[in-house]
Formats: sequence, structure tokens, C-alpha cells
Amino acid sequence: MNNETAIADGFGRTFPYLRLSVTDVCNFSCSYCLPDGYKKTGCAPFMTQAEIVRLVKAFAALGTWKIRLTGGEPTVRKDFVEIAAAVNDVPGVRRLAFTSNGYKLPERAQEYYDAGLRAINISVDSLRPDQFKHITGHDRLHEVLDGVQASFEAGFKSVKLNTVLLKGLNDAELDQFIDFVEDKPVSLRFIELMRTHDNQKYFEAHHLPGTAVTEKLLERGWRVRPRAEGAGPAQEFEHPDSAGTIGLIAPYSKDFCKSCNRLRVSAKGALHLCLFGEGGYSLRDYLQSDDQIEELQEKIMSLMNFKRSAHFLHEGNSGVRDHLASIGG
Ligand code: SAM
Ligand code: SF4
Repeated sequence: MNNETAIADGFGRTFPYLRLSVTDVCNFSCSYCLPDGYKKTGCAPFMTQAEIVRLVKAFAALGTWKIRLTGGEPTVRKDFVEIAAAVNDVPGVRRLAFTSNGYKLPERAQEYYDAGLRAINISVDSLRPDQFKHITGHDRLHEVLDGVQASFEAGFKSVKLNTVLLKGLNDAELDQFIDFVEDKPVSLRFIELMRTHDNQKYFEAHHLPGTAVTEKLLERGWRVRPRAEGAGPAQEFEHPDSAGTIGLIAPYSKDFCKSCNRLRVSAKGALHLCLFGEGGYSLRDYLQSDDQIEELQEKIMSLMNFKRSAHFLHEGNSGVRDHLASIGG
């Protein structure tokens, strides 16, 4: 990833990548995220399409060129496709991605591609239908896997699968996941379960260090891929006989934050400098008219002074985040 951008912090890191949540609402109830389903919090509405476009214009003018739309489940927003097309039209946006639970993806993949979305991350926490249902609350594994195929057919060249590593729930499937990518040009990323305010007991029961994946991959002849310049925090593995690759996102590992290249904005317009650790800085007042763009840029640049070097999870900081659906993961 080209990391050139005006947005930088005091630790030599630059931020060409924005993860933009368009809604907190989700139709799934993943056991580590929203076990009781989505519950409305606060009365502030989510950003309108016009506010989202103003926000993206300000970031793009500062050099942000990669945008990921996320949520909650971004595709449950009725104007999701319009938002994607409008964001894609903002000068300076060169890569538009989104993260989805795969809901209705078989029917909608083409619409998403036609709106300008070019990279898709699909969450697949189990390849066993019963376990998938147990983890997500929905018996939709086949739909999600058909959605992976439909994404290729629609034209997506970058298809990534996100799998949260869960002790006792999907760790017996490591071989199956590795076999799954063998004949597909996908990048499957195992994500270490992160502790949030809401999932402390669950975390204790199901957190599995990423070393379980590393050991399995090395044992099966996989090798670490040399780190590309400007790459994000995932460690990538490859195998000469596999079309797909496997990545590992291990936020508790040493030096994870050193390669941080992303900022986040919540669906209610708050800038989060880190996935963990602060409540967010509202940008909403600066999103109300087109002539506020310079003011908004100044605000963003000044907030960068508050970005800390690391998330300090090791020091027991669970983050003030209730769950990751409020900020898009
Ligand atoms: N709803 C979409 C989805 O599930 O792909 C997008 C939002 S979701 C919050 C983004 C990513 O965060 C998903 O891959 C999800 O599995 C991951 N996630 C959510 N809570 C997590 C946690 N506590 N630890 C690790 N990953 C988490
Ligand atoms: Fe919804 Fe994504 Fe959270 Fe699952 S991980 S409950 S799909 S926001």
C-alpha cells in the first residue's frame, strides 16, 4: 500500500486508509460481538449520505485513498449502494472496499461491484453449517459461501475472508480452512478474538493465541510471506500448492501497532484514532455544509496529536468499546 498522505502522527506513522462505519445496525448476532442482537443506543442518527461524502472529501483531500465501508452490517443500510457509488466518485479515492457478513451476497454482489466497490471482506467463522449457525445466530453458511463465488463472478479480484479464531468453537477446523483456500484465490484472515467491554467472560473462554494458526501452517509446509512495504498489521502466509493465502491478525502480539495505517470514523461521525482506548472525537459539527471542508481538515489534523503509540491492551485496557459493531472492527 502506498502510504503517502498528509495525515501522520507523532510516531512516524501515516494514515492513507479510513474505515468508515455507515451503521451500527446488524442483522446477525455473532456470539463474540452482539450475542443478543443489535440494540439501539443513544438518539443521534447515523450520518446521512451527504455527511458521509463531505467527510470522505476532507479525508481524500488530505491524501486518504483507501476507504472501507463497514458497520454493524453496512449492507443493511437501504442506501448502501448509493453511498458506495457517491464515495467512489470522490476525487482521490482509489480503492473502495467493504466488510460484510455476506447477507444476500449472492443476489447483490454484482450491484456492489457496479457501484465501484472493488475489495470485499466476508466474515466466515465456521465452514460447518451447524457451527456457523451457533456462532452467528443464522443458518446461512451456504448463502455466504455462494456469495464468495458470486463475488468472483461479479468481478471482484480482491476477496478476503475473515475468521475470528475461537477456542472450542472453530479451532478444530483449522485444517478445513487451510484446505478451503487451496483452490480459491482468496486471502483468509484469522483474527484473534479481541476483548471488549461486553465479552469479558466469552473472551476468557474462547480466546486462542494466533500461534495456534502459525504452528499449524508451518507444520503443513506454509511459509511466511515477506512483508510488503506499507502493508497493514496482518502477517501473511503462502504455500506453493495453494491458490489462496492465509493471514493472521494478532492484536495482542508485540509491535502490532507499529504498522498501524488506518483511522476509523463511527456511523455517528466520531473519529476514532485507535480501535481501542478512546471514546472518539465527534466531527459531526463540521459535516453540516459543503463550505466546512477546510475547518474539518484542520480538526482532523489537530486530532492526530492525540494518537497514541499503541493500544496498551497488555496493560489490561479492554478498550472502552462495548463491542466492535459500534466501530466496524
Ligand atoms: N458485520 C460485518 C462483518 O461481520 O463482517 C462488518 C462489521 S464486523 C464488526 C467487522 C469484523 O470484526 C468482522 O470480521 C468480525 O468478525 C470482527 N469482529 C467483531 N468483533 C470482534 C472481536 N471481539 N474480536 C475480533 N474480531 C471481531
Ligand atoms: Fe454483526 Fe459483524 Fe458483529 Fe457479526 S461481527 S454481529 S455480523 S457486526
